[in-house]
Amino acid sequence: MRCPKCGSTHIRKNGIKSGKQNHICVDCKRQFIDNYDPPQGYSDEIKAMCLKMYLNGMGFRAIERVTGVHHTTVITWVKPAGELLPDAYPPETC
Ligand SMILES: [Zn+2]
Repeated sequence: MRCPKCGSTHIRKNGIKSGKQNHICVDCKRQFIDNYDPPQGYSDEIKAMCLKMYLNGMGFRAIERVTGVHHTTVITWVKPAGELLPDAYPPETC
């Protein structure tokens, strides 16, 4: 786990807030809860689903509407995967 503010891994537990484990960053004193989602914090299933939609010809904005994942995030997943799949469509620019 990393501090969402400074990126430090020097984290301590800081009690429970709203039923969730609260943490505090020892370095910058920022408090945050356990399930804080960094921008790229999607599960592999969501990533796989987005890739599948992309490979089926869906545009990034359509994928965003269906999955709720921002299209620029989808692009960062699709680009490296597209290079591994010679049959994939070239990444769309938007
Ligand atoms: Zn911090």
